[in-house]
Amino acid sequence: MSTLVTGIAELVTNDPSVGEGPLGVLTDAAIVVADGAVAWVGPGSAAPAADRRIDVGGRAVLPGFVDSHAHLVFAGDRAAEFEARMSGARYDGGGIGTTVAATRAASDEVLRGRLRGLVAEMRAQGTTTVEIKSGYGLTVEDEARALRLAAEVTPETTFLGAHVVPAEYAGRTDDYVALVTGPMLEACAPHARWIDVFCEPASAHAFDGDATRTVLTAGRAAGLDLRVHANQLSAGPGVRLAVELGAASADHCTHLTEADVDALAGGSTVATLLPGVEFSTRSPYPDARRLLAAGVTVALATDCNPGSCFTSSMAFCVALAVREMRMTPTEAVWAATAGGAAALRRPDVGHLRPGARADLAVLDAPSYRHLAYRPGVPIVRALDVPDR
Ligand SMILES: [Zn+2]
Repeated sequence: MSTLVTGIAELVTNDPSVGEGPLGVLTDAAIVVADGAVAWVGPGSAAPAADRRIDVGGRAVLPGFVDSHAHLVFAGDRAAEFEARMSGARYDGGGIGTTVAATRAASDEVLRGRLRGLVAEMRAQGTTTVEIKSGYGLTVEDEARALRLAAEVTPETTFLGAHVVPAEYAGRTDDYVALVTGPMLEACAPHARWIDVFCEPASAHAFDGDATRTVLTAGRAAGLDLRVHANQLSAGPGVRLAVELGAASADHCTHLTEADVDALAGGSTVATLLPGVEFSTRSPYPDARRLLAAGVTVALATDCNPGSCFTSSMAFCVALAVREMRMTPTEAVWAATAGGAAALRRPDVGHLRPGARADLAVLDAPSYRHLAYRPGVPIVRALDVPDR
């Protein structure tokens, strides 16, 4: 069954060979979808016939957002902590323990309901691929449970046993790292594609460079690919470790030295910026312009989580990237689609070349520029194209 989508005022393909600029923009365009994949893109006047037709009536269409960093398996919320922070309390990662306690106490049904609700909320805002981390269980059983649940809704599952040192291991980080790299990794690896560490020597709750290296090296030996929470609160060793170990992505990149930027520019690791976190913790934003000027591949993601940033909106992150990090609308939209795909090493999403997954987002607006131009307005959603 094939479907022709017509009436596209502006089609963002992320394929510069078929359209204008880095986003490969076509105007008055059409796209044909067959068997869940893009079969054809081009001018509406040259569109081939298809079994069915959807007219989007002069709207813009772009690849669905690829949100490459999210923490969606949890119970409870931290609205009170947010309020305290907005009243002057500092964020240091310590509130994660609150969510760990609530998550351990929750049933599978409660966690699954919350998780599915958040994924639906994301899709309703144009996100068609999402990476989901564990990290609020922090026992062998609870981490494996989080990943089993996450795997029900995405192939992009990430084992984050090294999120924080749980309270029962306080002062015994080495013992906890032995648990994470031993029985916990063994129980979690079958349900995970990635392994991640909150590398942050500036937080009393997170992990230093040596522990990060130990966890990532063990994860790789268990067949997992690497990503790192790096340089969020200080210019620690996370970014350089990520590049050295060939991680797909270094996430946050808020505090960078010259050596960090050089390492990113010389390696294949994507710098994933999470400006919703700086917004929600009232912190200085990453220097996106410095990274872009150095030629680093930049992605944008939400970091949706109950503590430091509880937004599921990629459009909001695009608006922040433009307003607060001085990315152009073109750079921000690319980073939220193709950039996210690069951060997940997914050649099949984040663009609309023939062969790509038919993951489309549609705007109630004629141009992708409206994503940043109309902040906070719900103009973007995933476009459902029936494939049977
Ligand atoms: Zn995170």
